[in-house]
Amino acid sequence: MRRIYLDHTAGKPIDERVLKDMIPYFSQDYGNPSSPHYFGNKARTAIDESRTSIAKLIGAEKKEEIIFTSGGTESNNLAIKGFAYRNHVKGNHIITSSIEHMSVINTCKHLSKQGFQIIYLPVDEFGIVDLQSLEKEMTEKTILVSVMYANGEIGTIEPIQKIGDLVHSKGALFHVDAVAAAGQIPIDVQKEEIDLLSLSSNDLYGPRGVGALYIKTGTRIQPIMQGGGQERGLRSGTENLPGIVGMGKAAKIAKAEMTDEAERLTRLRDTFVKGVIDLIPESFLNGHPTLRLPNTVNVRFNYIEGESLILSLDMDSVVCSSGSACTSKTLEPTHVLLALGLKHEEAHGSLLFTFGKQNTNEDVKYVLDILPNIVKRLRQMSPLIPKELIE
Ligand code: PMP
Repeated sequence: MRRIYLDHTAGKPIDERVLKDMIPYFSQDYGNPSSPHYFGNKARTAIDESRTSIAKLIGAEKKEEIIFTSGGTESNNLAIKGFAYRNHVKGNHIITSSIEHMSVINTCKHLSKQGFQIIYLPVDEFGIVDLQSLEKEMTEKTILVSVMYANGEIGTIEPIQKIGDLVHSKGALFHVDAVAAAGQIPIDVQKEEIDLLSLSSNDLYGPRGVGALYIKTGTRIQPIMQGGGQERGLRSGTENLPGIVGMGKAAKIAKAEMTDEAERLTRLRDTFVKGVIDLIPESFLNGHPTLRLPNTVNVRFNYIEGESLILSLDMDSVVCSSGSACTSKTLEPTHVLLALGLKHEEAHGSLLFTFGKQNTNEDVKYVLDILPNIVKRLRQMSPLIPKELIE
């Protein structure tokens, strides 16, 4: 029996067309882009094409504004630390949100030990960053605001353009972690007043271990790793040529197919959410009801242990997750759900279903067929369950 994979936030399959384009760069066109000969030229051209595709996906003005990294985590580290270290004379104040990915939160925590003052903005019950708090917290010492485009655990899309406007009107710069959003919804760094933007290839159905950082012309950052000076001196190390080629192809496909695929996924997502809420009592959607990523569904099932539900679904060939891959190994509930105001037990009873290219209507139908009975069975074993929910 086919397994139904609903854990695309944790990892996506590489698109076959991406893989096909990458293969020659492992064993035929393996030159180093820094070399001045035939092989080097070929590698450099391929990397430049990839830069162009990524620039187009996010509406960047020039391909030179894109530099390659090892993934979203490195892009977030380079954007925030690189900017903070380079601009600390202007101010030591950085604002972010309480629902960022750990690669932003932990980078900010690290900076706070080095004399930077960090503010973690609250979000509302749907995960939307509070603009009034942002306005109140901004001071003349604020150099950077970092808010994610969309949250990969609850799907909520942030009011990026409004934040960009506000940040610039106060004289600070704006970093956006777009790892979860890119390729699913349109991004326009120029219109949305974004100065730094992080991307990860696998989230675009590209290979793992490669990512990119958009750095708007004129934005000053310093490298966080010293070496041979590749990527305009900002990211040393021999370029991951096949990976970069793959990420460029993935960005090209995402741009061409995003509108249709987002519509298809939105239909699957909405059918799934309606089915779950209608069929399972005491189940609730976490995150924003409409301002959400096309592929993301986070549901809270009261009176249930999320881990046991994941294992029961796995036995029935359906895979999903409890939240971010970073916290799924610990028993701690994810900080994202707690920031929405959920209690510990409510966060523990929440599951994340993320759809992808290969999911179909049949998948949704199958999960909706089995899920209500599994939830019922697990609830019958729960000491917390109110009598009226036991039949
Ligand atoms: N930011 C967000 C919003 C994420 O969902 C992730 C995880 N894919 C990351 C950053 C980290 O990206 P990577 O795993 O490529 O380092």
